[in-house]
Amino acid sequence: MLTPEQVKNILKENCINLRFHARGGQGGVTASNLCVEAFYGYGVCQPRFGAERMGSPTESYVRLSADYNLVRDNSAVYAPHFVSVLDPSLLTEVDVTAGVPHGGWLIVNTTMNQLEIQDIVKRKDLNIATIDATRIAFDILGRNITNTIILGALVRVSHLVTLDELADAILKRFKGAIAGKNVEAIKQAIEETCLYETGNDPDFSENTKVPYQQVSLGLPGYQELDIAGVWYCDEDVIEVGSDQVITGSWGEYDMIWDEEKCTDCAQCWFICPDFAILRKKGEDGLWHMSGIDTIHCKSCQNCLEICPVQAISKKLKQSPASCATPE
Ligand code: SF4
Ligand code: SF4
Repeated sequence: MLTPEQVKNILKENCINLRFHARGGQGGVTASNLCVEAFYGYGVCQPRFGAERMGSPTESYVRLSADYNLVRDNSAVYAPHFVSVLDPSLLTEVDVTAGVPHGGWLIVNTTMNQLEIQDIVKRKDLNIATIDATRIAFDILGRNITNTIILGALVRVSHLVTLDELADAILKRFKGAIAGKNVEAIKQAIEETCLYETGNDPDFSENTKVPYQQVSLGLPGYQELDIAGVWYCDEDVIEVGSDQVITGSWGEYDMIWDEEKCTDCAQCWFICPDFAILRKKGEDGLWHMSGIDTIHCKSCQNCLEICPVQAISKKLKQSPASCATPE
């Protein structure tokens, strides 16, 4: 890992690029804004959104340099030296390491270790940092907003900004108790970040720009998917559709249905935005609730809130993290 002095020297003549992968609502764009606001030199950031839905994959890009002329570019970052992934489920849905040069850093909110991550991203030449940001977010902020926490891990590995600089930017942007809680969460993230280093650093002077491919994991791309993830129940109408858009990976909870408590009022079925409440025809000829479709349930919790008899509950998907490296 580079020292703060080495990073400062690199920034005099080079641009350091970052990319944030998040889901709508997790604050990936705010994270990129905070990077620029906390940085002592010059910086630009741009967001990129897909479908305008809470939980859909988003990206945001940051360029930082001490030289004003090196950040005058508003295009997407194709070759980031640091990639931050705010939601672990994105590892299997988006090619998060696309364009990252050898020795680049992959920072992931996850409870997985580096071997599991390497297995998913099919790269062993990257430095990896992991942080259980979801747990810290619930513990300190009370909700799953992991953007500032992932920045804590970024501070630990990149030395692009210091804790004090980031804290100042947060105190300017957020008000009152929430600002203090975010700073507390960042401090905890800096302490808890697990590092798996290759011993290599990226060549920051190299022009590593390569075309960025959004989907390269064998998953359908925009040309194969229907517009904005519209559902089609009849596969004869269109060969792809709801089966291909796995919104079940968008949320952080498993929703649990208690058949004993359920009175079959169907309120959850009416309110579910993803047709994830399953119903089947009974022997009486009527339709009855039969479960929750985990492929499409994005854990928006509408059903949990509307159920009059508390027949639906939730369980966090992510289990506690460990820095332990398996044998
Ligand atoms: S949480 Fe409930 S309402 Fe929301 S997508 Fe899942 S099943 Fe549907
Ligand atoms: S809202 Fe509750 S009681 Fe009504 S069908 Fe859904 S789970 Fe059952």
